[in-house]
Amino acid sequence: MPRRIAIVGLGLIGGSLGLALKRANLPDLEVAGVARSRGTVQKARRLQAIDIDCADAAEAVSGAQLIVVASPIMTIRGVFAEIAPALAEGAVITDVASTKRDVARWAQEFLPMGVHYVGGHPMAGKETQGIDEAEASLFEGKPWVISPSVTADEASVQTIVGLAQLAGARPVFMDAEEHDSYVAAISHLPLVVSSALFSTAFGSAAWPELAALASSGFRDTTRLASGSPEMAHDIIATNRANLLHWLDRFQDELMRFRDVIGSAEGERVIEAFARGQLERDNYMTNGPPQRDVGEPMERISFADMLLGSKIAGMMRKQEEAIRAAEARVDEKKR
Ligand code: NAP
Repeated sequence: MPRRIAIVGLGLIGGSLGLALKRANLPDLEVAGVARSRGTVQKARRLQAIDIDCADAAEAVSGAQLIVVASPIMTIRGVFAEIAPALAEGAVITDVASTKRDVARWAQEFLPMGVHYVGGHPMAGKETQGIDEAEASLFEGKPWVISPSVTADEASVQTIVGLAQLAGARPVFMDAEEHDSYVAAISHLPLVVSSALFSTAFGSAAWPELAALASSGFRDTTRLASGSPEMAHDIIATNRANLLHWLDRFQDELMRFRDVIGSAEGERVIEAFARGQLERDNYMTNGPPQRDVGEPMERISFADMLLGSKIAGMMRKQEEAIRAAEARVDEKKR
């Protein structure tokens, strides 16, 4: 009998995951999918991101061993409530939401005992939305944050590690609160800055003249301003305090630059920009500084996990798994 993965939400992220799963061509695996509109579900089927199109979320998840919720953050509470009665005992449920703390709370509130919730967040995306933008390669070489609930067993955590690896991503373990505080700095602050930068120029009476001159620098630094306002809303609604903290720090940093520039001291200006140049070049060349990667985690086969042929006894360091994923990406680049 085929095993089933259900994807709830078939836009950029859910659709890309469906394509990545289908690309892996695992035996006896069917991918069921559902979205808000029939049109999206039918398109996902045509694009072969899913095998079975479902009319509602409860239908998609019934009989599924693994459920991935890939709908907008503020819909997830309702999705959990809707699917809870249809979940199979022992099912593993994850999500891909950009914030984790509130989603973990909703999971605790709505999901029944006997299913295993493991939060997830692939740190991959674009400023565009929808199934038409989905790509099987979207997650390749990207971090995939895994944030297990206290009730999730080891096998379910390993299933999500396998899912991330199957999509070509690099699993990174993190507590939900810790995740939200970090992504506020490296994901949500850039979104606000990008939008504010665009509106600063657009708000000027000279915008037609400015726009006529704008080139790659302006385009690159304002790219995120083209993102979905609904997604920005959901991120802010579920990560407000962390974002405010980083906005304050950014404001301080802007004021520091303002002081340096206002001082008209050439040396200070060079120093301020040289530090950024040096540190960014170092980061771009060598990647992030080494950090403690936490608990050891094995590299496992997702197919084995999902098909249930082996579960435990293969522990290896998470560091090794990360290095292996990085080596694969390097290999592809060559
Ligand atoms: P998206 O392209 O707008 O797709 C959202 C999908 O969810 C659509 O297929 C939509 O259906 C469906 N949907 C909406 N309400 C639903 C409901 N109540 N039940 C079932 N399906 C529903 O958004 P996305 O960019 O893929 O984002 C999805 C999730 O991934 C969000 O939680 C977001 O925070 C997270 N995420 C996004 C990015 C990014 O860069 N975009 C990166 C990482 C994580 P229709 O197509 O019919 O409207």
